[in-house]
Amino acid sequence: MVSSVLQSHSSQTSAEVLLRIRHTCAHVLAMAVQTLFPETKVTIVPWTDTGFYYDFDRRVAFAPDDLIRIEAEMRRIIKANLPIIQEEVDREQIRAEIEQLNEPYKLEILDSIPADEPITRYFIGCVDVLHGVSEGSLFHISPDNLAQKKMGKNCWWDLCAGPHLKYTGEINPAAFVLESVAGAYWRGDETKPQLQRIYGTAWETAEQLQAYLTQKKGSKTTRPS
Ligand SMILES: [Zn+2]
Repeated sequence: MVSSVLQSHSSQTSAEVLLRIRHTCAHVLAMAVQTLFPETKVTIVPWTDTGFYYDFDRRVAFAPDDLIRIEAEMRRIIKANLPIIQEEVDREQIRAEIEQLNEPYKLEILDSIPADEPITRYFIGCVDVLHGVSEGSLFHISPDNLAQKKMGKNCWWDLCAGPHLKYTGEINPAAFVLESVAGAYWRGDETKPQLQRIYGTAWETAEQLQAYLTQKKGSKTTRPS
């Protein structure tokens, strides 16, 4: 029963939808963390077979209560149904913005993008800056426009190639949870500072989430000692 619920979503279409949900969830997680803990530095946006994770550079360890607060902030961002809009950016312009934000990992990510590849970022929210821009389309905004708008509540962006959902409201708030925090090194390099990795799981429906959580609990309790 449990596995049939999960297996029924192994089709190509669902895999693509799940990827977009999980990828978008990871950005929403990072946005929530920086809204609540603005001193935190962000890194990259991976997804997994069951969800997503995100590595954060923050001196203070995330406590279990912090995860509850972060999850609540994620639900607020989802409920606000903020648009997710892609912009193709000029390398030097985005470099100046990242330096101003003091985000060293973002700068490393920028430098790792080959010279002949387009650089894109995704805004979540920022509707007053992006007024008149149609969803899902590439656009250019003037740097002056953006400078007037500080990143913060309901306005955030990340360097990314996509793909994502078009609105945060497309994430089912009953079908995701944050699971745990663990230590991780930037790009697996032990000589680099240790980061904190927050794991989450996300699905299309609450039933799939429950099936996954039940299966995970079962696999833990039946593991031979
Ligand atoms: Zn992304």
